[in-house]
Amino acid sequence: MKRTFSIGGIHPKENKLSRDAQIETFPLPDVAYISMAQHLGAPAEPVVQKGDKVKVGQVIGKPTGFVSSFVHSSVSGTVTAVEPKEDLAGMPVMHVVIAVEGDEWCEEIDRSKDIVSEIPFSAEEILEKIKNAGVVGLGGAAFPTHIKLNPPKDKKAEWLIINGTECEPYITSDDRIMRERPDEIAIGAAIMMKALNVEKCYIGIEENKPEAIISMMKAASSHPGMKVVVLDKKYPQGGEKQLIEALTGRRVPSLALPIEVGAVVQNVGTSLAVYEAVQKNKPLIDNVITLTGSCVLHQRNFLVRIGTPFSKMLDAIGGLPKDAAKFVSGGPMMGKAVANLEASTLKATSALLFLTEAETKRKEESNCIRCGKCIDACPMGLEPYLLNKLSRIGGMYDELEKEKIHDCIECGCCLYSCPAHIPLLDIIRVSKAEVMNIMRNRSVKH
Ligand code: SF4
Ligand code: SF4
Repeated sequence: MKRTFSIGGIHPKENKLSRDAQIETFPLPDVAYISMAQHLGAPAEPVVQKGDKVKVGQVIGKPTGFVSSFVHSSVSGTVTAVEPKEDLAGMPVMHVVIAVEGDEWCEEIDRSKDIVSEIPFSAEEILEKIKNAGVVGLGGAAFPTHIKLNPPKDKKAEWLIINGTECEPYITSDDRIMRERPDEIAIGAAIMMKALNVEKCYIGIEENKPEAIISMMKAASSHPGMKVVVLDKKYPQGGEKQLIEALTGRRVPSLALPIEVGAVVQNVGTSLAVYEAVQKNKPLIDNVITLTGSCVLHQRNFLVRIGTPFSKMLDAIGGLPKDAAKFVSGGPMMGKAVANLEASTLKATSALLFLTEAETKRKEESNCIRCGKCIDACPMGLEPYLLNKLSRIGGMYDELEKEKIHDCIECGCCLYSCPAHIPLLDIIRVSKAEVMNIMRNRSVKH
């Protein structure tokens, strides 16, 4: 039997419609809108002004705190504005706007296709290169990678875990990079093993990606201690805690970080970005994005410069699909609805998904029938029906904390399983934010 995590999980239809679409290079936009808040932590501070000329790979934003990141220009041209602009949710965020002129790259970036496998750098040099390249986690959270690769001195990493599960329906960008750029991903993983001083690396891939499994097995075989592990297909296997349990058998306790059980998890896309940063001096200026949906005529996987407007990407598929009722950044389970088509791609954008009316229509909510299906589905061992009940009463924050609402990973398994169509995730998400706020304030006071 293949490995997987032990509690909960669901099997939504995978809908990997774009799995056979090779990665194509997306044309340069006329104007790039580059957000200063593309990572977890403090937004970057712009270091360019209106009128400045910039090259591809040049720093345009510098970190403003311990958890923050550099931002680089993904295009060459003239800065036309440094101003707040609405993000995909319609919230104002500081952007550097660049009118594209040609495609001139910083000289230090190695643009050749040659694969560089020798890693001559020390752990400190690796971390510095990753930090300076603005690499962040591309699995969704966008946590600065150099911090995750530098755990506190009293914690010892035993495993580097590379997440190649891509368990969200529809998305195929990770599948494609594993099939098309396996050697670079494996070298990126070896670089991170060196930074962490670990001898073991597991690359977890779900069984529904046979070509990626074969190509990554071949690439991993050149690196001592690196092993591909084939996992059962189950959502949300890509959750850090679920993946660690599936691969190592260890369970990360409530409120603890993976390093507590000796694991550091990075996504395959991050591994590729680390390779490019360390071996090619290439900052994180582009990423692979899946353009998909049942109403999309041509399924695509594009290598896109960061800061490309969504509206420009729509042009590539002939405009907004006729039957599209909802536009999502990411997958259908954990993606974010796009309210603003003029927003642009970010470092961690993995997919643009179009859903039809029938696919998005929520059925009418009825009373809880206490079937327990939400409990069976929850991968964190929570009781979603109870969290929903307490949330609806209002003000029950102590009780919600006792029920560990903060452990919710917002995977949506409960919502997916509920026969009464109760919007469990929407309700739990709001209460979770309140409880986490209370917990944060309490820890600041102490
Ligand atoms: S959204 Fe939260 S409560 Fe619901 S199944 Fe996922 S972890 Fe459990
Ligand atoms: S799945 Fe829905 S109906 Fe069943 S116990 Fe949970 S909340 Fe109630």
